[in-house]
Amino acid sequence: MQILHPFAGSLQQYAEHLADPDYYRPGHCPQCQAKHPLTAHGFYTRTLIDTAFDGIIRVRRYLCQACRRTVSLLPEFVLPYLRSSLTVIALLLIARLLGGQTIEGAARTAPPPMPYQRGQFWIRRFRAQAAALCAALAALTQPAPAPDFVHRALTLLESTGWIAAHRFLFDRVRCHLLGWPRGLAPDGRRAAFPTAAAPA
Ligand SMILES: [Zn+2]
Repeated sequence: MQILHPFAGSLQQYAEHLADPDYYRPGHCPQCQAKHPLTAHGFYTRTLIDTAFDGIIRVRRYLCQACRRTVSLLPEFVLPYLRSSLTVIALLLIARLLGGQTIEGAARTAPPPMPYQRGQFWIRRFRAQAAALCAALAALTQPAPAPDFVHRALTLLESTGWIAAHRFLFDRVRCHLLGWPRGLAPDGRRAAFPTAAAPA
């Protein structure tokens, strides 16, 4: 199971905090609710594309001694199953859907530039997810009038802050900002979670 590393800072600070397993060690198991701290259980690596970074980051894993399942602490600036950071995805969505740029233009000028198919993929998923995002984020902030769900969802994300919104969606309602990939249960869990799953 993935939960969020309760830390919003730079990539550098994230790497420094990872060195200490006690820093954010979960005090109880989110899967079986055992009331004892989890045991550090190594790391897995995943790729990350951020505005000025393209490489590998480590994600810390913990093990519950009661149910023998692992929990990984995903940093808040990434979305499960996606290589690019939340910031990179947000910039593309805003440029295309609020700024009115073409996907090709938004993808070419985005930091970092990317193949337009990747932007197209995010746009498609965001459009499909917009109504659900509006419903969930209405719990956080009053939606402003908007012509459609896509604009309303973007306005809500901008006013809440993308990371704060992602934290709420993922931690509280197990909702993925761009929708869980097909094949996962509605809340993004599956019975045997492959802890080293490569992000798409
Ligand atoms: Zn457990």
